[in-house]
This record gives sequence, structure tokens and C-alpha cells, in this order.
Amino acid sequence: MAAASHDSAVGEHASSAPGKATNRTALGRSKALTVKKTTPAKKTAAAPAKKSATSAKKTAAKKSAATKAAATKAVVKKAAVTKAAATKAVAKKTAVTKAAAKKTATAKPAPTKPAPTKPPTKKPPTKPESHTALVRRARRINRELAEVYSYAHPELDFENPFELLVATVLSAQTTDLRVNQTTPRLFAAYPTPEDLAAAVPEEVEELIRPTGFFRAKTKSIMGLSKALRDDFGGEVPGRVEDLVKLPGVGRKTAFVVLGNAFGVPGITVDTHFGRLVRRWKWTEETDPEKVETAVAALFPKSEWTMLSHRVIFHGRRICHSRKPACGACPIAELCPSYGEGETDPEKAKKLLKYEMGGLPGQRLKPPPDYPGRPAPPLAEG
Ligand code: SF4
Repeated sequence: MAAASHDSAVGEHASSAPGKATNRTALGRSKALTVKKTTPAKKTAAAPAKKSATSAKKTAAKKSAATKAAATKAVVKKAAVTKAAATKAVAKKTAVTKAAAKKTATAKPAPTKPAPTKPPTKKPPTKPESHTALVRRARRINRELAEVYSYAHPELDFENPFELLVATVLSAQTTDLRVNQTTPRLFAAYPTPEDLAAAVPEEVEELIRPTGFFRAKTKSIMGLSKALRDDFGGEVPGRVEDLVKLPGVGRKTAFVVLGNAFGVPGITVDTHFGRLVRRWKWTEETDPEKVETAVAALFPKSEWTMLSHRVIFHGRRICHSRKPACGACPIAELCPSYGEGETDPEKAKKLLKYEMGGLPGQRLKPPPDYPGRPAPPLAEG
């Protein structure tokens, strides 16, 4: 716009000059005027330019200011947004932290170690158990066991005192099951003390080989058969002092024979019996004779034989040497050693043996009241 008005002013002065060309003065004046006029024109033309420049400058400045303002606004806006976002984030974080803190404060403290699966093995004794209390507890255990094992019996198969004596000698260092699987053939070949006393040792050895230590055992059973034949008229004596003089016969064997073949009360201290009475704190003794004396003092004589069977039954079925099945034990509440074995009822159930675990028993010919299955004969081969 400024440039167009400048051109129009110049055109006006040029169109009037040719009409006054002969008049030099006029021309000169006109020229002077033109020159004079031109100067202002220049001035006029420069002014708008200046104006324009100023305007442009102003516009630019304005624009720059606007840009600056916009930028500032944007920066401010951005800053505001950032601040708001930051504030929001901080607020959120604080809220989360607070919530977490609240949760932590209200939540139960995490257990530092897993809950014990086993209850305490026993309460620390406040005072030693009196003899009267021990007798009561021991007899209660016996009564409980009598209910559980109403069918308790010696677990060796036998038809007469001689067979029971020989089977008991053979049962050293092996199971009653293995003896029961071995003796049918032995007694079929040598049914009396005289027959066995006259046997060929190697043949006897071969027959009793499955029971282990068969040479030493052959010497014992042939030696006791000769003694019975020569000293007792071919009969098994019914007195402990006679029995213990026979080769291979100790007090344990003597009491088994007396108790089960003669009805003479006796306590049989085998490995199961000794382990269990120590777990029950009936005695601390380890010597079988001392154990026998200590336990005998807790019970009437009439109970001795059946007590022995019940304790041995319990040791074979539930209160095992390595892992007693405490969680399935009917006398757990009377036992100071509860917790020595598996206390989980389901796991304990799996440890039960013989009829308690639904398995065959040890006898091939069990008594009629035995609730389990008979043992299988020795596998051929
Ligand atoms: S509670 Fe355990 S240790 Fe005690 S008698 Fe029972 S199985 Fe044996």
C-alpha cells in the first residue's frame, strides 16, 4: 500500500512538465520545483518505507511478541500441564504409598517360618512321674492295647512245645514270617526231638538256610534235640532253669515257650518290647533282664504273657523302630514319645503293617480270630 501512493505522486508531476518546456526559467523553476518537489517526494516515499519498515518492524515485533507470548503461554501451559501431571503423579504415588502403608499396618505379619507340621513331642515334665502314676499309665496302655489287639498271639506257627522251641531258636536275626515259611518242611522231615537229633547236619542246614546263620542254628536245634532225647525223655521241660541249659536257649526263648506252650506267665523282652517300654518311659534299662524285672514290677503276673504279645504286636504294626506311626497310634495320648514318628494321620496310616495296613500277617496258620490274611508260603526257587 505505501509503494502504490508513492508512484501516483510522481506521475502527477511528470504530466505537467511538457506543457511549459520553452520557458527555461519556468522550466528551471519547474525543474527546481520538480527537484524541490521531488525531494519531499523522496522524503515522502522514504517515510512510508520507513513507516512500512517500522510497521513491518512493529508487525514483526508484534508477531515476535505474539510468538513470544504464545511460546511463553505454551511454555506456561506446558509447565502447568507438567506441574499438574507431576502433582497428580505425586498425589497418586502418595495415595498408593499411603494405601500400601495402611495395608501393611492392617495386614497380619507374615510368618517368619513355616507352621510346624508336628506338634511338640512332649511337654517338659513339671515333676518326675511317681511310681503310682507310672503304674496307672502303664496299665492303661496295656488295657488300650488289649482292646486294639484282642487277637494278639505268638506269631510263630507251631503244633507242640517242641516245634515252638525249635521255631523260637530259628527266629533269631530273622522274621517270624521267614521262620514260618521254613519250618513246615523241617518238621515234616523231623517231627520229634529224636528224629532231629539223628539227622544229617548238612541236610538240616539246607532246610533251614532261608532263616540265615543256618550252620550255627543247625548246631543249636540238633544239640537241644539230643539234650531233650537224652536228659528229658524226649519232652520239653516246663521250668525256666532247665530250658536255659539247652543249647541256643536263653531267657527270652524260655519265656516264649513257657508262656505259650505251658501257660506259665513270662515277659518276653525282644527288640520291639525293649524299644517300646523305653519310649513309654516304663524303664530306662537296656539290658533285657533288667527290663524284664522293671516291667514285671508294674503288672500282675497273670498279665505278663499277653502283655508281651500286645507290646510286640504294637511294635511290629505301629510303633516301628525308625518311623513310628504316631498319627495313627491308639495310645498317643499316653505316650511321652509322641511325635518321635509321623504325626500326620494320613501319612501315618500308610506306615501301618500286617492286618493294620491290609497286608498278610506273619503266620501261615493264624488263629481263627485273627482278622488279617495268612502269610504266603515260601516262594519256590
Ligand atoms: S505315640 Fe508314637 S512313639 Fe508313642 S507308642 Fe505311639 S507310635 Fe510309638
